[in-house]
Amino acid sequence: MDFELDETQRLVRDTARDYATKTLAPLARKIEAEECVPPEVLRALGGLGLLAVNVPEALGGAEAGVVAYSVAMSEIAKACSSTAVTMAVTNMVNEVIATFGNDAQKQRYCPWLASGETLGAFALSEADAGSDPGAMRTTARRDGDDWIVDGGKQWITSGAWAGVFVLWARTGEPGTKGISCFLVDAGTPGLRIGHHEDKMGIRGSNTVALEFDEMRLPGSALFGELGQGFRIAMMALDGGRVGIASQSLGIGEGALSDALRYAKERQAFGKPIAEFQAIQWMIADSRTELDAARLLTLRAAAMKQQRVPFTKEASMAKLFASEAAWRVCNRAVQVHGGYGYTRDFDVERRFRDVRVTQIYEGTSEIQRVVIARLVLKD
Ligand SMILES: Cc1cc2nc3c(=O)[nH]c(=O)nc-3n(C[C@H](O)[C@H](O)[C@H](O)COP(=O)(O)OP(=O)(O)OC[C@H]3O[C@@H](n4cnc5c(N)ncnc54)[C@H](O)[C@@H]3O)c2cc1C
Repeated sequence: MDFELDETQRLVRDTARDYATKTLAPLARKIEAEECVPPEVLRALGGLGLLAVNVPEALGGAEAGVVAYSVAMSEIAKACSSTAVTMAVTNMVNEVIATFGNDAQKQRYCPWLASGETLGAFALSEADAGSDPGAMRTTARRDGDDWIVDGGKQWITSGAWAGVFVLWARTGEPGTKGISCFLVDAGTPGLRIGHHEDKMGIRGSNTVALEFDEMRLPGSALFGELGQGFRIAMMALDGGRVGIASQSLGIGEGALSDALRYAKERQAFGKPIAEFQAIQWMIADSRTELDAARLLTLRAAAMKQQRVPFTKEASMAKLFASEAAWRVCNRAVQVHGGYGYTRDFDVERRFRDVRVTQIYEGTSEIQRVVIARLVLKD
């Protein structure tokens, strides 16, 4: 078994690390305070190939594979979780268009998303349909060659910034087979950006509701086959979960680095707190859990890259990495004592940012449902 990254993967990781440490980390507080990932950051990510890591070169992507995407995502998340989730969703949208789009859709959207000139948004969840997207109520009905969409979406990352939305709507009977998928341009008449969520963490990312009032789409906006939307969503989410596992890992690594630095500097009872066994145990547990999370995440990424079924492994990686990273951030706050509870130290932001990784792209409970179903089937 080979645990080494290959040359391409190392290059992508080092590129992401260099940008993350030199440019992005110093901007992380500003990004949170201004609730915005600046356009120059997005263009820089695009220029480095980080908005289309697993998209073919012919479509403007880096074509570097899933493992490269995972390690790059962790590096960006270590510096700024808000930028990381923005990057994650655009990579997911770009990849899903490259996989399921027709030639015209791929040529139109993939290079644009890869460039960082715009972002993609993934519009699946609704106010009353999060864990259970099959219960969605947004509808798309035929009107000649066109489609008319009515309804609304909730929690849409980058919704106010995106140039293109992958949108799911009901085109047929109740149940998952009656759901289809569409590509929607920002600014389409009838599309309104709704409520902006005032979040606990990842405050630099944009999360909004979308409202559709008689939104007219051309027939060419249908994405994939009619009635195949749910299948596309589930396949996209499997890959997305590898991304969120990688994001969690990066946030956890950032918190552990902060804790190590602080434990060596901070003195109590006449010596650095790193010399107390209680602190050492927290560090040992955090290091062990992050390594375990990394192995699960890279396994899922490698399986996706090899095109073998990886649904269970992606859920296991996302479940474990998000929960482990939360424990690591919690311990890092504890190592910092009272200072960890203040905005002067990055661990406070990481502690708030990491919490959502147990919620979005499927909650921890939903990951357990998926894992148990597949284990019992095996
Ligand atoms: C910051 C943020 C960004 C997001 N970005 C996007 C995005 O870009 N696009 C998008 O489509 N969605 C997005 N989401 C939505 C996210 O995926 C949902 O919030 C998530 O799937 C949970 O759905 P819900 O909030 O409706 O919770 P609910 O489904 O109402 O769940 C509430 C609780 O019940 C539990 N539960 C539900 N069903 C079961 C079950 N069968 N077994 C056990 N427990 C269960 C859940 O685990 C949870 O604890 C985002 C959410 C957040 C917070």
